[in-house]
Order: sequence, then C-alpha cells, then structure tokens
Amino acid sequence: MSTGALPTGTPLPSAFQGYSSERVTGSCCADNLLRHIDSNGRELCRDGCPLAATIMDGKARESSVFLHHALGHRVPVSVRTSPVRDDAGAIIGAVEIFCDNSNSLQILHEFEQLKRDAYLDPLTTVGNRRYGEMTLESRIFELKTHDIPVGVLFIDIDHFKHFNDQYGHKTGDDVLVMVAKSISYSLRKMDVVARWGGEEFIVILPGASTVVVKSVAERIRVLIEHSFIMVGDDKLSVTVSIGATMSRSDDTGASIVSRADTRMYLSKSRGRNRVTDESDG
Ligand code: GH3
Ligand code: MG
Ligand code: MG
Repeated sequence: MSTGALPTGTPLPSAFQGYSSERVTGSCCADNLLRHIDSNGRELCRDGCPLAATIMDGKARESSVFLHHALGHRVPVSVRTSPVRDDAGAIIGAVEIFCDNSNSLQILHEFEQLKRDAYLDPLTTVGNRRYGEMTLESRIFELKTHDIPVGVLFIDIDHFKHFNDQYGHKTGDDVLVMVAKSISYSLRKMDVVARWGGEEFIVILPGASTVVVKSVAERIRVLIEHSFIMVGDDKLSVTVSIGATMSRSDDTGASIVSRADTRMYLSKSRGRNRVTDESDG
C-alpha cells in the first residue's frame, strides 16, 4: 500500500499543474512535485495528507488545496479521496481526484460560452448568420490569397409557411432542427452550415469542386426528403430547394451568397425539391 502514489497511467491534465504525464506518472507525494498546501500554507504532504487519512480511516474526503504548478504559481483545486477496498472490505489503497477550481478556468468557460452564444443558432445549434458571414469572409480571403475555391449552397425549406399553418409553430421548430441535423450529417469536418434566416441555411464547402458541390447538395436534398418526425401517427417531412455555386475570383461573401440564392429561387420556380447549379442555371 503506498500513500500518495499518483495512479500509474492516469496523467493529471497538464493545464492543472504544468507537468507532462511522463514526469508525474509513478511519482509520490513525497517526491514533492505538487506540494499541496491549504489556505494557511500548511504543507499537506507532510501532515494532513487527505489521501493518507482516507487510507487510515476509510472515510471519503473532499478538501480545497493549492497545488504547486510547474511554472511556480499555486493552482486552487478541490481534492476528493475515496478508499479502495478488496473483496473482504479491507482497505488496500485510495484514489484521489483533482478538480481545477481556478478562476482562470471559470473565465475560460464563460468566454467559451459567450463565443457559443455569439455564433450559435439557439434553436438548431448550427452556426448562426454571423458565424456564416464570418466563415465566408475567411474562405474568400483564402480564395484571394491562396486561390482555394469555395462552394456555397443556399437551402430553403419548401412551403414552410403552409407547414407551420397546418401543424403549428412548435412542430415547425422541430422540423427546423431536423433539417439542420440532416444538413450537418451530410458534411465533411471542414464544411460549415449556418442558419441564414428563418427557414434558410447556407453551407460553405472549402476546397470543393463543382462536382463535389453538386453531389453534396443532391445528398442533402435526398436526405431531407427522407427525414421525418412523428406527430401522433403522422409522419411529417419537408423538402428543400437548393441553389449551388462555386466561387469566382472577384467574389465577395455577399456576391457568392447572392448567386446561390438566385439559383435557389430557380429551383423554386422549377417545381421545388431540387438543386440548381451553374450547369443548369
Ligand atoms: P417557399 O417554398 O416559397 O420557400 O415557401 P415558404 O412558405 O417556405 O416561404 P415563406 O418565405 O413564405 O415563409 C417562410 C416561413 O418560415 C414563414 C415562417 O412562419 C417560417 N419560419 C421562419 N422562421 C421560423 C422559425 O424559427 N420557426 C418556425 N416554426 N417557422 C419559421
Ligand atoms: Mg425563405
Ligand atoms: Mg421557404
């Protein structure tokens, strides 16, 4: 039974303490790596080690301590210890779990949350229009500087007003989520989908060719056509009209979306539930 041994193969997240897993694996508290202290500066590895106490009395504990970071500063963490027993109930060791309590992590979480709020559409959880515009600007920049083409799809749900009128706004919302997910699952990792407006989405396909753009658009159209939600015994589905385009050297974010939008309207006027790209419009 070794008191304070860091469990082999369980590296502490380096953000906590700045040590690599190789450095800490197999080390003991006695090796004075993390040097926990309490808020009074008491060195817990010497007296007051919660892990040792748990091994002695078998009681789980939770305490707030400060670890020594490899860069020198103290990191507030909460430590939870639990005894490990054999089949007969005898204590054979204990585990110690560290959770970062630091404000910096909290601030980082809050910042991430703010970023999510700023760029995510809350209903469908795909990117919002701002995120779509920002992504387009980056892709247009790549087009101008590195000649990397970008494909854009403009996707609009067919007769959605009628759908809402017939089944209610809440069911309409469920369908919007379904459509957003069907689009997302049709894409590669580097592609982006954003909700452009009420029942309109754009898809940005960096580095794609005309053929790829057309085939992605067609896949999205078919997948949505075959997606459905159940409301009671009713199987409800919608279709979409899609406009597809490839970037041109003089494009801006606005001009490329406008071209895709124009083609989407061609799809509408040709009967809806179809894709129009440069080969047919
Ligand atoms: P079209 O085939 O020509 O596109 O017909 P449409 O009815 O889809 O087009 P229109 O622009 O007339 O209506 C769009 C509808 O989308 C109207 C609105 O009620 C619905 N819509 C927009 N945003 C939302 C939303 O967040 N939730 C729900 N449920 N419906 C929405
Ligand atoms: Mg529309
Ligand atoms: Mg519509």
